[in-house]
Amino acid sequence: MSTRIVVVGGGTAGARLAQRLPVTLLGEEPHAPYNRVLLADVLAGRYAPEVIALPGTLEPVRLGTRAVRIDRAARTVECADGSLVGYDRLVLATGSNPVLPPLRGLRGAALPAGVHPFRTLDDCLELRALVRPGVRAVVIGGGLLGVSAARALAERGADVVLTQQGERLMERQLDEHASALLREHVEALGVEVHTECRVSGLRQRDGAVTAVELADGFVLDAQVVVLACGVRPRVALAREAGLSVATGIVVDDELRTSDPAIHAIGDCAEHAGRVYGLAGPALDQADVLADVLADVLAASVVGNRSAGAERVGTTDGTLAGASAPRAWTRTASASPSGCGQAQEPSAPARAPSRVPTRPAQRDDCPHGADAPTTDSAPRYKGTRALTRLTLGGPRPLDLAAFGQVTAEPGDDVVQLTDSTRSAYRKVVVRGDRLVGGVLLGDLAAVGALARAWEGDEALPDEAPLLHLLTHDGGSS
Ligand SMILES: Cc1cc2nc3c(=O)[nH]c(=O)nc-3n(C[C@H](O)[C@H](O)[C@H](O)COP(=O)(O)OP(=O)(O)OC[C@H]3O[C@@H](n4cnc5c(N)ncnc54)[C@H](O)[C@@H]3O)c2cc1C
Repeated sequence: MSTRIVVVGGGTAGARLAQRLPVTLLGEEPHAPYNRVLLADVLAGRYAPEVIALPGTLEPVRLGTRAVRIDRAARTVECADGSLVGYDRLVLATGSNPVLPPLRGLRGAALPAGVHPFRTLDDCLELRALVRPGVRAVVIGGGLLGVSAARALAERGADVVLTQQGERLMERQLDEHASALLREHVEALGVEVHTECRVSGLRQRDGAVTAVELADGFVLDAQVVVLACGVRPRVALAREAGLSVATGIVVDDELRTSDPAIHAIGDCAEHAGRVYGLAGPALDQADVLADVLADVLAASVVGNRSAGAERVGTTDGTLAGASAPRAWTRTASASPSGCGQAQEPSAPARAPSRVPTRPAQRDDCPHGADAPTTDSAPRYKGTRALTRLTLGGPRPLDLAAFGQVTAEPGDDVVQLTDSTRSAYRKVVVRGDRLVGGVLLGDLAAVGALARAWEGDEALPDEAPLLHLLTHDGGSS
């Protein structure tokens, strides 16, 4: 019997899985899988779209193919073009949808011309076509996405206003001082930053945006508006199929949903109550699931061998036969290749990977689901993700942040500031553990800090805490 693995979503997580296993990958976007993290560089004109392509998948991706319905009883996925794709294991890697804020003038199905979220390569290419020197652009949202978009638009010569409802930029990741330095950097590029500023509506003429209305009564002229107000896991397909959904699609340590034949990974998945919305965890989850499914494929190979089946490899995500190709064997964790400077170094806590094959624990159920879990089974235990961002261009700025960057009573804080170089480094230590940190402008210590934090190990007694910020651990 062959095991057919179908993946819905050709983004960071889905493409990573398809690089390691022979799967049928259904991708709604018309482009070959690309690195979303580098979209701001495409918007800024630093990279051509083809430069951000992800490494190739083992089987061709079915581009422009949207899955619209899952029939769990028949184990089929229905696509928007009417085709049906059968599966034994289904993987949902549907990512996130941008949040559209409840603004006057933004109700109804279509966005006014000039108004774009910042999620896909198409968003980016459409924005790129609109932006010329002198165009007035308003970016709504001062988080990581909004800051990257504002920076990129300014680099293309637009007059950019960045509006942030909160008190400071990137407030989820940065402390007050780092936010202030980031603001200085962005303003030095000519971006006008408004914090504690609520946008209440959009004005339009002939279907195109003309201005942004603020809650305090001010009106900002705008020919281009970028919506960077956060994302929400894309769960409609799962919910309609009756899978358990909280904020994201609920998965266990083997990335299984409430239906053991269906898995979910990446932005759409919720593991241990957490939805990450970051590339590093999406890659980690894809790697763990590749190990889980490699065992399922290996088991089906053994099943076929004992049934006397001939070796057959197909191009539709099915695989039958006697020996597993190298690509889908379980291996030591692959590096997050193809993800550029804004990538998350990450440490998935999981059982050590080992080379297959594990025929003794093959699935009992006819579809390969409901496999008994053994202690050596690959498991996802969460990712300690470090947010890292490079704002490129003529005056690049690097920043990295992780964990809790604001100290609680009793915490130790070590902080170094170099105002002439706009550099800032800070770590928060609780007991003998590193619980958070932020680096801006000088990332020499990031490798050593990331290792200490991701490993969650006790800090050495003998080293002064200042060492954490001045010692690069050979990573620079
Ligand atoms: C501009 C930008 C900058 C970012 N910067 C960073 C950063 O610096 N660091 C970081 O860690 N993260 C960053 N992120 C977030 C990161 O890109 C995501 O966390 C990551 O891409 C999640 O991967 P994913 O595979 O879960 O989802 P995605 O990469 O979004 O892929 C999901 C794919 O599924 C497709 N899809 C959805 N539904 C269907 C369907 N029904 N049928 C077929 N296909 C479907 C979608 O079209 C999409 O192509 C950034 C995101 C953006 C947009």
